[in-house]
Amino acid sequence: TFANEPELWAEARPDPSTDGHKYDRGHAVVFSGGATTSGAARLAAMAALRAGAGLVTVFAPPSALMVNAAHLTAIMLKRCSDASALQAALEDARLSAFVLGPGFGLGEPARDYALAVLSARRALVLDADGITAFAEAPETLFAAIRAAGSPVVLTPHQGEFARLFPDIAAEGNSSKLEKARQAAERAGCVVVLKGADTVIAAPDGRAAINATGTPYLATAGSGDVLSGVIAGLLAQKTPAFEAAAAGVWMHGRAAELFGPGLIAEDLPGLLPKVLAELS
Ligand code: AMP
Ligand code: MG
Repeated sequence: TFANEPELWAEARPDPSTDGHKYDRGHAVVFSGGATTSGAARLAAMAALRAGAGLVTVFAPPSALMVNAAHLTAIMLKRCSDASALQAALEDARLSAFVLGPGFGLGEPARDYALAVLSARRALVLDADGITAFAEAPETLFAAIRAAGSPVVLTPHQGEFARLFPDIAAEGNSSKLEKARQAAERAGCVVVLKGADTVIAAPDGRAAINATGTPYLATAGSGDVLSGVIAGLLAQKTPAFEAAAAGVWMHGRAAELFGPGLIAEDLPGLLPKVLAELS
């Protein structure tokens, strides 16, 4: 069967050592878009921190520095004005996992940043605009993912999936499970095909269908939180398939614990309860 049960990834879950320090728990980075869409990055950043990353930094363009500074406390903030600034930042080998896409905006910077993170061989969660930015050139992305060999997770909803894998999306008689597996094989990385019955698929053929969650997850920003949870686990060295499957499960379980009236802001704060249930 393909059920996404905790047994699938329980062994791979991070377990902080008694004498560990914050750098042992990984450093996650979330790219912020411009000022008016920067909230998405903060949702992902909070989720990465709650998922257990030891440090989380938001990398923001100059236009969004102040709004991020006004809204962040435990999460750090760094100015990142262009691809060369990012190259310099990537010299810090402790930056272990990146989230690119939520509220980021389309175009050159999205592609350049994704390719820079991949050529530095860091873990990457590519979501939202980070996926759509490669709609014209999916093969460029897939080649970079293969060359990097680092853990990569794509987290498209149906619409984003169709932009990156139009032919697979259009296949009339293949299941969602089959579509996600084909996409993972083509992209050379883990693909999380979101929705009411999220499928997690790896290029080696492993796949799982998620059962946690509620329809109240269909709310603005909920996917941004998911990308942060997965990055928080990747930052702690959980392998890509296990990080994605555990992240999807935890995100859905948090929604179940909250019930109706859920908004994306509620989800990160519920992760401690979910983690306590799992331990
Ligand atoms: P996004 O479309 O990027 O905002 O992501 C929405 C998130 O909510 C994804 O994790 C979806 O799997 C989840 N989601 C959306 N609709 C439902 C639903 N009807 N039931 C359960 N989960 C859902
Ligand atoms: Mg989304």
